[in-house]
Amino acid sequence: MLNVEGLVKRFGGFTAVNGVSFKVEPGEILGLIGPNGSGKSTIFNMLSGTLSPTAGSIRFEGREIAGVSPHSIINRGIGRTFQIPRPFRRLSIFENVALAGFYGQGSHSQSKAFAAAEQALALVGLPGDRHARVDGLGAAGLKKLELAKALATGPKLLLADESLSGLDEHEMDQAADMLDRIRKELGMTIIWVEHIMGVLMRIVDRVMVLDHGEKIAEGLPSAVAHDPRVVEVYLGT
Ligand code: ADP
Ligand code: MG
Repeated sequence: MLNVEGLVKRFGGFTAVNGVSFKVEPGEILGLIGPNGSGKSTIFNMLSGTLSPTAGSIRFEGREIAGVSPHSIINRGIGRTFQIPRPFRRLSIFENVALAGFYGQGSHSQSKAFAAAEQALALVGLPGDRHARVDGLGAAGLKKLELAKALATGPKLLLADESLSGLDEHEMDQAADMLDRIRKELGMTIIWVEHIMGVLMRIVDRVMVLDHGEKIAEGLPSAVAHDPRVVEVYLGT
């Protein structure tokens, strides 16, 4: 489904992502972990068109998407969440999600966007009531809203950026189970970024580890968790 080769991103003289290659098969959840600053969000920004790669190729369903605009990437079926939720606070929860649906559905149909919003809100367990306000949401609610916005764009591939950060342990377990359910119920393919291993390792099929912009390990969670380079990177974190 996704084939990334030799991906590089430089900011001036600083190399944030340094020649990363990986593949994602339809229906799988790939975990992408690495310490803060290791380049995870920068990779998501290139996959979702927010940033153009300095070098490398990103093929989605056989077509090159490196450097393509965020809007056409959403229309081709890649949806993402942002690590730091920034909802429109004056709009209701429903309106935030419907707006994402409107933007993401190529047809720009209001009825389709409303239907997508209703379905996405039900999936993440947020109220479908059209007037419920964003202000009442805590950290876990805001993460659910991020997820609902991405789902409302109708993605085939979902990029989830730190869906667990800022949550307590119980909320983390619930959020992890939710991603697992979304994958199973919708047959969705997911790349899930976290800086900690934690519950992610329970859900993902494969995991890839980044350090200083480079891939240092990849494989089954059980094997990667014991990889000496991974243990070293995660010592003391
Ligand atoms: P992660 O998501 O793994 O915590 P990021 O991908 O956000 O890491 O950042 C990787 C590195 O690139 C960090 O050192 C960060 O400061 C740097 N970086 C990210 N975005 C920019 C940017 N727009 N300009 C300059 N440096 C950036
Ligand atoms: Mg990040």
